[in-house]
Amino acid sequence: MQPSVYQKTIETLAEAGIESPRLEARLLIADVSGVNVDDMPITPIIDDNMLENLNRNVARRIEGMPLDKILKHREFYKSDFEVSEDVLSPRPDTEILVEAALKIIKENNLKNVLDLGTGSGCILLSLLAEIKDMQGVGVDVSEKALQVAQKNTKKMRLSKRVTLIEKSWFDDGFLGSFQEPFDLIVSNPPYIETSEIEKLDISVRKYDPIVALDGGEDGLKHYRQIAEMASFLLKDEGYILLEVGYNQAEKVKKIFSDKGFIHTGTVRDLAQIDRVVIFKR
Ligand code: GLN
Repeated sequence: MQPSVYQKTIETLAEAGIESPRLEARLLIADVSGVNVDDMPITPIIDDNMLENLNRNVARRIEGMPLDKILKHREFYKSDFEVSEDVLSPRPDTEILVEAALKIIKENNLKNVLDLGTGSGCILLSLLAEIKDMQGVGVDVSEKALQVAQKNTKKMRLSKRVTLIEKSWFDDGFLGSFQEPFDLIVSNPPYIETSEIEKLDISVRKYDPIVALDGGEDGLKHYRQIAEMASFLLKDEGYILLEVGYNQAEKVKKIFSDKGFIHTGTVRDLAQIDRVVIFKR
């Protein structure tokens, strides 16, 4: 590739404090050249149009737009997911929920799963891609998020086993959307306290949808609502796995035990923070 373009991109990113400027420069250049980064020739031809796109994307990156929102896709668990500004970017912490769910699904031979707040579909689709005889329903309040989930479902060839429903779980009649109870509920609901949102990093505050972040005044309103509904949505002995914020595990445990659910486990993330709590009906 023209060394000047590559070098200049690396330098611009590095000067802006981007942590992995070489890797990001390669990914951004591959993206505008329309090639897979692994297949990118040493000297790709970059025409004026590509250069214009590259400069625009580098400027966005420097302003704080996350790389995945520029590239419009991101690796999560074992697949590559389309993302957009209408979905929460899949995060490594949430892969812990997928791993914990897969263990429980296999141990208990669970056959159907409900994902509350499916977003890009990364949790639901990762589970179904691993468990070939499982069916799943993904619910989201955002039509645009579900369009992304729908694309990912098709891309992963899971359409036959996935149903996507656009609804708020605060709506009357929400429970009437489901024909039969589930073996498993998974969710990474919005859990940020409303007043904390403006303090989040720009990459989250500006580029993840507020509706996927805002957990109400104390950050717990979605957990309370899920706890309220779960005994209607879940079979006897069904499981619930929830991602929680860094200081929420104990509070969420209390919300669910007050409703009669049994806490069966907690999983920590890479930073040793309690990140996923597990309950059984
Ligand atoms: N993980 C996101 C963050 O901390 C929040 C996601 C959520 O509210 N579920 O930035």
